[in-house]
Amino acid sequence: MKSITVFKGDGIGPEITAAVLQILKAAHAPYDYEEFEVGEKEYKKNGALIPEAAFRSFEKTKLLLKAPITTPIGKGFRSLNVTLRKKYALYANIRPARSSAVIPTPFPDVDIVTFRENTEDLYIGVEYAMDADTIHAVKLITRKASEKIIRAAFTYAQKHHRKKLTCVHKANILKQSDGLFLHTFYQIAEEYPHIIAEDKIIDNLCMQLVMHPAQFDMLVMPNLYGDIVSDLTGGLIGGLGLLPSMNIGTTYAMFEAVHGSAPDIAGKHIANPTALLFSACLLLEHTGEQEISQRIKKAVQTVWETTNIRTPDLGGTATTEEYTQAVIRQL
Ligand code: NAD
Repeated sequence: MKSITVFKGDGIGPEITAAVLQILKAAHAPYDYEEFEVGEKEYKKNGALIPEAAFRSFEKTKLLLKAPITTPIGKGFRSLNVTLRKKYALYANIRPARSSAVIPTPFPDVDIVTFRENTEDLYIGVEYAMDADTIHAVKLITRKASEKIIRAAFTYAQKHHRKKLTCVHKANILKQSDGLFLHTFYQIAEEYPHIIAEDKIIDNLCMQLVMHPAQFDMLVMPNLYGDIVSDLTGGLIGGLGLLPSMNIGTTYAMFEAVHGSAPDIAGKHIANPTALLFSACLLLEHTGEQEISQRIKKAVQTVWETTNIRTPDLGGTATTEEYTQAVIRQL
C-alpha cells in the first residue's frame, strides 16, 4: 500500500475529492490516504492556508492529490501553487489535453501534452525599479533547469510512445536565454533518435495550434510560454473542465485539476469531479498502476458514450454523487 497525501481544498474541493476517493477505492487502487483540510477554513482558524501537519505528510508520502484552493485576495499572499512548486522543486508541469466527444469543440482531434518548466523564467518574481518610471523584471534560464524539463519531456515521450516533441521559444529575439533553452533541447534530442525533435517560435506556434492542432504531439517550453500555451490547449479541447495536470520533481509529485475552487457552485452537489479524477489517473500511472488508470478512464468513457448521466457543466442534470456512482458501476 502506498500512502497518498490528500488536500481537500476549498469550494467544490471537498465534494470532488470525496467522489474521486470513492472511485479510487472502488477500483481497488492500492493506496491509503492521509486527508487534510487546507485553504480558507484552515487560514481563518490557524492563519495558514496549509497546516504544518499537511506539509509533513507530503514530505513523507512524496505524493499529493490536491483539490483546488481559493487564493485569498489581498496584499502579501503568494500563490499557493507557486509556493508548493518552489518548496518541493516540482520542476515539470505536465498537462495532457485531449479532445473528447462529450465536449463539442471545433478541434476534435487534439491530443497534445504540454511540458512547462515550473521553477524559473520570469516567475522567479525578481522585479526592481531603476527609477520611478522604469522597472526591470528578470528572466532566469539555466542550463540545469532546461535540461531537467527537456529530459523529462523526452523520457515521457519514450515511455508513452509519443512520436514528436516540439520545443517552443523566442530565441530569435531572446538569443541568450531562450537560445540556451533551444540549444539544450537539440543536445538532449540526440540521445532520443526515435523521437522527432523540432522547434517553433512561440508566435508561430500559437497560430499553428489554432489552425492545425493535430500536427502537434508534445510541447516543451520555458515557464511563461507554458503557462499561456497550456491554457490555449485547454481552450482547444473546449475549456478547463476536464483538464488534469501533474507537477513533478525528482522527489515529489503533485496531481491536481487545472480548474479552481468554483465557489459559485460549492455545496450544490453539481461539481464535475472528472478533472480531479483524471489527475488521480496520472497519479496511478506515475506509481505504476497503468491498468487501474485505464480501467477508470474507460469507465468514464463508457458513461459518456452509453448514458446521459453527466453533471450540468456538460449539459446534464446528474449530481456529483449520481455521476460518481455511474462511473463506479462501469469499473
Ligand atoms: P474556477 O475554475 O474555480 O471556476 C470557473 C468557472 O468554471 C465557474 O463558473 C465554475 O463554477 C466552473 N467550474 C470550475 N470547475 C468546475 C467543476 N469541476 N465542475 C463544474 N463547474 C466547474 O475559476 P475562478 O472562479 O477564477 O477561481 C475560483 C478560485 O479558485 C479563486 O480563488 C482562484 O484563486 C482559485 N484557483 C485555484 C486553483 C488551484 O488551486 N489549482 C486554480 C485556479 C483557481
